[in-house]
Amino acid sequence: PTPVLAVVGRPNVGKSTLVNRIIGRREAVVEDRPGVTRDRVYYDAHWAGRAFTVVDTGGWDPDARGMAEAIRAQAEVAVTLADAVLFVVDAMVGITDADEAVVRILRASGKPVVLAANKVDDQRTEAEAYGLWNLGLGEPFCVSALHGRGSGDMLDAILAAL
Ligand code: GDP
Ligand code: MG
Repeated sequence: PTPVLAVVGRPNVGKSTLVNRIIGRREAVVEDRPGVTRDRVYYDAHWAGRAFTVVDTGGWDPDARGMAEAIRAQAEVAVTLADAVLFVVDAMVGITDADEAVVRILRASGKPVVLAANKVDDQRTEAEAYGLWNLGLGEPFCVSALHGRGSGDMLDAILAAL
């Protein structure tokens, strides 16, 4: 079986867009409004001659429970099934309470985590993303999933973590 990378983060941070970058195809569904990705969709990916499986997470029933609780539950499931986690934050928004809650779950899991600072479309946002070092998850890899910026270094770090 190939190693499994779970992509975790708040709704709308660009997880599915980044998954499409990683797999090199447009199969993960990107939505302008949060909350519509189905729970845990699996994709085959390759980088630098190695194969791995990417799991795009998301999806919850907004009527059934609150968003923060849903994000926590999603992260809990993701860490159990993954060999490594790609934690995606929105560099334009910065860190929210929901992000902090996910970080605690990721830390407790002991699984390797790669931090992606997404939506770094320009130089100014890259400067703001520097504050993400404070999460204690190591280097934030600045990427723009939309424009394809920076994903090579992030993928190298993912392979090292898997
Ligand atoms: P998900 O809910 O985390 O899976 O997020 P999606 O991949 O569905 O993206 C949510 C929205 O953010 C969409 O409108 C995307 O086009 C947008 N988005 C994703 N990546 C980027 C990026 O790198 N830069 C910008 N400006 N927008 C992005
Ligand atoms: Mg999605």
